[in-house]
Amino acid sequence: MNHLIVYAHPFEDSFNHAILESAVAALESKGHSVVVRNLYALGFNPVLSPVDFKELRSGNTPEDIATEQAFIKNADAITLIYPLWWTGLPAILKGYIDRVFAYGFAYQYSKKGMVEGLLASKKGFMITTHGTPNMYYDASGMTQSLKQTTDEGIFSFCGVATLNHLFFGGISTSDDLTRKEMLKTVQLTLKELF
Ligand code: FAD
Repeated sequence: MNHLIVYAHPFEDSFNHAILESAVAALESKGHSVVVRNLYALGFNPVLSPVDFKELRSGNTPEDIATEQAFIKNADAITLIYPLWWTGLPAILKGYIDRVFAYGFAYQYSKKGMVEGLLASKKGFMITTHGTPNMYYDASGMTQSLKQTTDEGIFSFCGVATLNHLFFGGISTSDDLTRKEMLKTVQLTLKELF
């Protein structure tokens, strides 16, 4: 399968980067082709500007958006890897979704006003890290809310079938052994799914 990983973390020595490396290694060990779009390394512009709106509406997709859309078109599976920032996607990743998952490319409305996902043949997977322990976010309903705004609000909205969404909480106070176990979970999950 062709895999696209969209990755959003500013530092190469981050735990998210270790997750990225584990994910790529797991997929490649099973013979999959993997493309990584490292948004910070690319200097991706996340601002959906008035010019973008104008151009997209007139059918002239700006070049940097078209480049990312080509990677999506070619992907059988899309994986997002990111730390949770203010209970949402880091701005650079949110902006990637704003600009790249554009109307007419990722979704559209039917004449009756129904949403039509245009990425329906694709599988989705997400890995989110956060500082708050999972137990707290599970109990407060936050984990469910996060799934609703990402798995459902982004992937399902565009027709992408979310296969799994891993949440690794308590990172800020975790020990090395716990984090190594998390990396093993990343590898095992991906090998099982694909
Ligand atoms: P890092 O800090 O990079 O790494 C954690 C530890 O893992 C470090 O000790 C690092 O050395 C180590 N590590 C690196 N590589 C490996 C490896 N290969 N094996 C084992 N260990 C390794 N949290 C919430 O719960 N809710 C929020 O709303 C929220 N909002 C935030 C907003 C902002 C702006 C910021 C900056 C943080 C926020 N956080 C929030 C916390 C954030 O989600 C976590 O800090 C983040 O998910 C941790 O992931 P990281 O990759 O940045 O970890």
